[in-house]
Amino acid sequence: MSLSEERAAALSPETVVVAAGRPDRGHDAPVNPPIVLSSTYFGTGPLGDHDRGYGRYSNPTWDPFEEALAQLEGAALPGLLYASGLAAVSSALSLVPAGGAVVMPSHSYSGSLMMAGELADKGFLELRTVDIADTDAVKAMIAPDGGKPASMLWLESPTNPMLGIAEVSELTGAAHAVGAIVVTDNTFSTPLVQQPLSFGSDIVLHSVTKYLAGHSDVVLGALVTSDPKLRASLLHHRIVHGGIAGPFEAFLALRGLRTLALRIERSQASAAILAERLKDHPRVEAIRYPGLPSDPGYERAKAQMKGFGSILCIQISGDRRGGGAHAADRLIAALELWLPATSLGGVESLIERRRRHAAEPHSVPDNLIRLSVGIENVEDLWADLEQALKSLDS
Ligand SMILES: *Cc1c(COP(=O)(O)O)cnc(C)c1O
Repeated sequence: MSLSEERAAALSPETVVVAAGRPDRGHDAPVNPPIVLSSTYFGTGPLGDHDRGYGRYSNPTWDPFEEALAQLEGAALPGLLYASGLAAVSSALSLVPAGGAVVMPSHSYSGSLMMAGELADKGFLELRTVDIADTDAVKAMIAPDGGKPASMLWLESPTNPMLGIAEVSELTGAAHAVGAIVVTDNTFSTPLVQQPLSFGSDIVLHSVTKYLAGHSDVVLGALVTSDPKLRASLLHHRIVHGGIAGPFEAFLALRGLRTLALRIERSQASAAILAERLKDHPRVEAIRYPGLPSDPGYERAKAQMKGFGSILCIQISGDRRGGGAHAADRLIAALELWLPATSLGGVESLIERRRRHAAEPHSVPDNLIRLSVGIENVEDLWADLEQALKSLDS
């Protein structure tokens, strides 16, 4: 027997990540879904929507992850796995009609901004960027006085890397009032911390590369929606543009998902401790972490998230040897446990000065360091940070 739909719906997310997407319980059947390596499937006669057909249309290895993610996000339909987060971004943006306006946070993930910017340069859409934490400004972009209403509102909250918090329900309502589609990039929060469909978002996007897979060993993306028409369009885009996941990557993503609840619990708790300590350190000029009561996003984050995530950003002050960016690079070079690398959401703590990327918006300060807190012992993480901060005094 597998769980009845009713019982499955009542499970808490910590159980869903472990229980969802299991094969049927036939005697001697494997308890984990197998990896299916086949580019095509037996079949004759006309191909229906539910036939597997060909390896670009579907693969049985995707299904368990797509079902598990939908259950976690509270979606009525299975999710859609993609080759990368950016392949998912591409599919979501394909829903914008020719010349339609897209409102995006000015501190969205840089790749999303770059893609929308390039489409705008070619005249395919109009891009309106805005400080997503400024609700009135966002509303003015969604429905400008006498101007064209937006076709899509892109939400990222918290933003990457500035950790701005949007007033999600309010903005979603304003977008729907003009018929715009709302897409929420939920990569930073995961469905365990924030469920965008519950506040009215039409589509949820994930870079599965980050927390969901969680081990920095796979690049994948996903979209989730409860709207059959939107899902059909997205699936069609995935088929004809070909941004599909490899079966082995899909298997790794589900394997990673099994420990998501434990990883989030540990890394969030550690991030809160590190934020408290870093905020008072003399070398830290500024800190952003929505879990600090002094943070501008604190009240909103408390109201709409279950926890505050495990990403924090600090700005390092300059000294007689150089400016803040130079000091930030020295700090990172002095670390022995933290890994100096881009990306986030893995079991290992990663640290990066964001402006090392040429594509990072210049409104991100050049001395800003993003910390993705992993699941190591928090005192070990702190000791490493403390010795590296101290090394700046010499
Ligand atoms: C990494 C990231 C993406 C892009 O995902 P990839 O898997 O790298 O293609 C999109 N949004 C956010 C918030 C991200 O952190």
